[in-house]
Amino acid sequence: MTIIQDLGEYRNNHLWMKREDLIPFSFGGNKARKAQLFFREIDREKYDCVVTYGSGSSNHCRVVGNECCRRGMGCHVISPLEASESTFNSQMMALFGTEVTTVPVIEVHDTIERKLEELRKTGKNPYFIAGGGHGNIGTEAYVQCYQEIKKYEAEVGVHFDYIFFASGTGSTHAGLVCGHLLSGDEREIIGISIARENPRGREIVLGSIRSYLGDRVSEEELQTATIFIDEYTFGYGKEDKRVTATIETVLRIYGIPLDATYTGKAFMGMTEYIKNIKHKNILFIHTGGTPLFFDALRSRQ
Ligand SMILES: *Cc1c(COP(=O)(O)O)cnc(C)c1O
Repeated sequence: MTIIQDLGEYRNNHLWMKREDLIPFSFGGNKARKAQLFFREIDREKYDCVVTYGSGSSNHCRVVGNECCRRGMGCHVISPLEASESTFNSQMMALFGTEVTTVPVIEVHDTIERKLEELRKTGKNPYFIAGGGHGNIGTEAYVQCYQEIKKYEAEVGVHFDYIFFASGTGSTHAGLVCGHLLSGDEREIIGISIARENPRGREIVLGSIRSYLGDRVSEEELQTATIFIDEYTFGYGKEDKRVTATIETVLRIYGIPLDATYTGKAFMGMTEYIKNIKHKNILFIHTGGTPLFFDALRSRQ
C-alpha cells in the first residue's frame, strides 16, 4: 500500500500522486511491486535461481538482483549490448553479485534459452522472469494497485477522473485497465508511452489485458478502455529539453524526483494532455526509477 499525496491545484485541475517510488525495498517503483508477487511464487515453489532480461539501466533488473541477493540466490541477467551503459542501476547489480551476460539484442532470446538449459544441467531449478516483469503476475500487481486507489477514493471521498502513468512493457498499464474493467467504474486511464509507438504499443497492452481477463470482458470494452499516447517517447533513453525542464520544475515545486526515461516523460505528457481540461481530479502514478534521476543529475553539467 503506497501513499497518495494531495498536491493541490495544478493547471486548472487538482492533482494527486501515488508514490510507488516509496515502496520500501530497493528504491521502490513498479518493478518492486511486481517483484513482490514474482518472489512469492519463487519462494513457494522453491526455485533456486532467477534468469531475467534487461538493459544496464533497468529498474527491473536492479530490484530482481536485490531480491535474489538477500536470499543468497543466483541472479542471471541477459542484457542487450546496444544498451549496456554503466548506470547507478548497473553498479548496484554488481554490488548484488548479479551475473550479467551481454549479447547483441538479436541473440538475447537464444542466450536466455541456453542459460536456462545450462542451469538445469547443473541441477539448478531456475525461474524465468520476462523483461520488466511482463506477464500475468506483473499485470496482477497493478490490478492490486488499482484496488488501493479505489480504497483511497472511498476513504477520502474523492473520485479521480483521470489516471496518468508511464507505459513501457505494458503490464502496469494492463493491470490498471483490468482493475478498472473489473470494477466497472467511470474514468480515463491514460498510458503515456515511453518508447513504443501506435498501433503496436497499444496492441501489446491489449494482449496483456486479454491474457489476464480471458473472456470476462468484451472486446469492445477493452478497446474503449485502453488509451495509449505515443507523442512523448523521444526515443527510449534519449534526452529531451522539455522533459529535463519538467523534471527540474517538479523537483523544485514538490520536492519529488522524476527521471528522464519514464516518469519525466509521463508527467510532461500529462501536462500537455490536460491543457484543455478543467476542474477535474487527476492522479499521476509515480512508477519509480529514482536511481535514473541521479544518472541524469550526474550527467548535468
Ligand atoms: C518499467 C518502468 C515503467 C513502465 O512499466 P511497464 O509495466 O513496463 O509498462 C514506468 N516507470 C518506471 C520508473 C519503470 O521502471
